[in-house]
Amino acid sequence: MKASIVSILLGFGMFVAQAQNISYAKQVIAKLCSQDFAGRGYVNEGDKKAANFIREEFTQLKLAPLGERYFQYFGFPVVSYPQRVFFNADGNDLIPGEDFIINPGCPTVSGTFKVIRLDSAMVDNNNEYNKWFKKNLKSYFLIVDALKGKKFVNQERADAILKNQVNAKGLIFDNQERLVWSVAMDFEPFPIIYVKKELLGRLILKVKLNIDATRTVHGTQNVLGFIKGSVQPDSFIVVSAHYDHLGMMGLETIFPGANDNASGIAMMLDLAKHYKENPPLMSVVFIGFAAEEVGLIGSLFFTENPLIPLKKISLVVNLDLMATGDKGLTAVNGTVYPELFNLLQNCNAIGNYLPEVSARGKAMNSDHYHFSEKGIPALFFYLRGEYHQYHDVGDTHKAITLSKYNEAFGLIRDFVNARMKLYN
Ligand SMILES: [Zn+2]
Repeated sequence: MKASIVSILLGFGMFVAQAQNISYAKQVIAKLCSQDFAGRGYVNEGDKKAANFIREEFTQLKLAPLGERYFQYFGFPVVSYPQRVFFNADGNDLIPGEDFIINPGCPTVSGTFKVIRLDSAMVDNNNEYNKWFKKNLKSYFLIVDALKGKKFVNQERADAILKNQVNAKGLIFDNQERLVWSVAMDFEPFPIIYVKKELLGRLILKVKLNIDATRTVHGTQNVLGFIKGSVQPDSFIVVSAHYDHLGMMGLETIFPGANDNASGIAMMLDLAKHYKENPPLMSVVFIGFAAEEVGLIGSLFFTENPLIPLKKISLVVNLDLMATGDKGLTAVNGTVYPELFNLLQNCNAIGNYLPEVSARGKAMNSDHYHFSEKGIPALFFYLRGEYHQYHDVGDTHKAITLSKYNEAFGLIRDFVNARMKLYN
């Protein structure tokens, strides 16, 4: 088995031109992360602009369209913040995204509120507890130290307070190490705000908040095109990446999502360019998924409304977080498909691409998931390295290095080629 793979790969190595194009990838990432695309979410039509851009690239590459002119439409409810997200503590404005973030399902809230800082006496001392929590707290925000907030003697009581069963106006978790945002489909029952380390003093007295939340049914689209296989046109390899990100939190704060996942879209488009120039043996379908961050909705919709027969898909390669690679690549579902993972490792060894290729089990953490749940071999590849910007305002196209982009491209191309060859 191994030997035959080796000879196949050596054969490819000799004849396939190196076609990865890191400068093209950088252009794509810069474009997708630009202000105009508004974080590819639910403010200023960010995700629509990104979908149009990918469709334009597919058109330029002359990929064959799937769906309606490359689009597959669907909709879902989503909470967004196209207007004010303002937070002032004792007269000091905090910077959204840098000093604080709101819970992604934070409902509208406006006004000035008194605050109480939760301490252990308030939870564990009965007199203190009764003094604070038997009164009406509707005009109060409760401040909880995120580092200390979970260490109480009466943990049951503490849990009830942290779920706001005491009916305060809302909760503020301060002393956060990192501010990590996401997207919600529905509102939380009360406002929750997260504040970075040491920004609120111990003796804070009041907060002023203006947060305008909306919830709408949002129409969006997966973007799909394909290149017909030269030998087995009715068998398919899917190369996917999600193009959506978190959008904006208020009028100015953009989450650019360079690593997550402009980098994956760039590599997917680069692979499409490559296979246009080097016609594949099987048909290769390229899918830019929408609505991944809100709960893998684009890929769920596609697997339930497939535009190609699911049974004819021999492999899904899903790319998400492709901007690093100094520490190697992880294949989610690698332990579920040991033969595929072996093939991947062999490709890496022969091409001498990345320092490590490791396998993980099943995880519902990107768009491969709904494919493998339906019995289609699907792997999710992400690159690992010293890069800690994740779901935050710092994940910008300037922050990423694409340090192992060429190597990762070579590995994925060889792996897809080897898989197609083995199927013959
Ligand atoms: Zn992602």
